[in-house]
Amino acid sequence: MVHVDGSVTTCCLDERLENRIGNLVQTPLAALWRGPLMQSWRRAHVEGRFEASGPLCTRCNWRSAGAVPDEDVESWLKAQNDPALTARWRARRAAAQTEPKEGR
Ligand code: SF4
Repeated sequence: MVHVDGSVTTCCLDERLENRIGNLVQTPLAALWRGPLMQSWRRAHVEGRFEASGPLCTRCNWRSAGAVPDEDVESWLKAQNDPALTARWRARRAAAQTEPKEGR
């Protein structure tokens, strides 16, 4: 999400810019979106390490919601060429489908 001052955050829930990854005044969106911080947080998200995927994620009730379509996650995982990461995500995703959702 982009705020009116050009600040970019990872999440539409982030009104206070806790997951701020940069600002469009200084950095193009593509560089922010593909940059090392975003890649690191994206990987942590896929692995279910929400404490490492941005400060706001640690206390988010939506973290198990699977807001990103599985096909998009699979596509990103394919580009990473990391079978172990893919296996961890698929196992976590399968387990999440049998657990009750948090906070809803
Ligand atoms: S875990 Fe919550 S705060 Fe973090 S990106 Fe996902 S929906 Fe947003």
